[in-house]
Amino acid sequence: MRVAETWFERREVGDGVSLFWEPHVHPFFRCNIWLVRGRERDLLIDSGMGLRALTPALGLTPGKPVIAAATHAHVDHIGSLHEFADRRGHAAEAAAYDDMPDDVTLADLFREIEGPVTALPGDGWTARDYRLTPAPLSRPLDGGEVIDLGDRRLRVLHLPGHSPGCVGFFDEARGVLFSGDALYDGELLDELRHSHVGDYAKTMARLTELPIAIGHGGHGPSFDEARKRTLIEEYLAGKRRQGCPGEATH
Ligand SMILES: [Zn+2]
Ligand SMILES: [Zn+2]
Repeated sequence: MRVAETWFERREVGDGVSLFWEPHVHPFFRCNIWLVRGRERDLLIDSGMGLRALTPALGLTPGKPVIAAATHAHVDHIGSLHEFADRRGHAAEAAAYDDMPDDVTLADLFREIEGPVTALPGDGWTARDYRLTPAPLSRPLDGGEVIDLGDRRLRVLHLPGHSPGCVGFFDEARGVLFSGDALYDGELLDELRHSHVGDYAKTMARLTELPIAIGHGGHGPSFDEARKRTLIEEYLAGKRRQGCPGEATH
């Protein structure tokens, strides 16, 4: 397999927001990396697999501070977190960032998956030797905090269920929600090692009550308010079917 020339793709989504992703990574582990530019500082939301350095691909402004936030401690979202000095993630998963245990990060699933990459990140790379670099949080989040970028403010929302420490970031003035893996346009996962279906249902109820202009998820395409409602309804309908198998055919 050849070594990839470039590792990250980039697309401007408008209003100071850029999307980055890793096209050579297996779709299951290919997350959305969001860069939100503010007047005084930038916010990076998630950082991919860490297979190659992310910082050089971002086109950052020299000397401008960057806050690197993780929506949760799964392998596909935290690989390059160590490249940044200001690291934030939810307190419920804070310990995981210190030593990146497979049990929490699910990195073992990436090591074991068939066809983890379609091009090599570097000469002689093997999935078997893949390890995450520890990235202790400089500021654990509880939810409710506001991250102020100067001309835009994002509120931290604790959205557990997919994992205990899932957070979203909500620009209330613009109605822009960065929802991580709590909500995206694709199959939502609530049966991973530390997932909790009851918490997920509460998170969905909370997101239902949160009107958005646009949602940028941890995977898949962005979605508007109508699509948000459909995604939530489909998820909850699936849970009802599982809970009452006799009703599934009606
Ligand atoms: Zn996840
Ligand atoms: Zn993910």
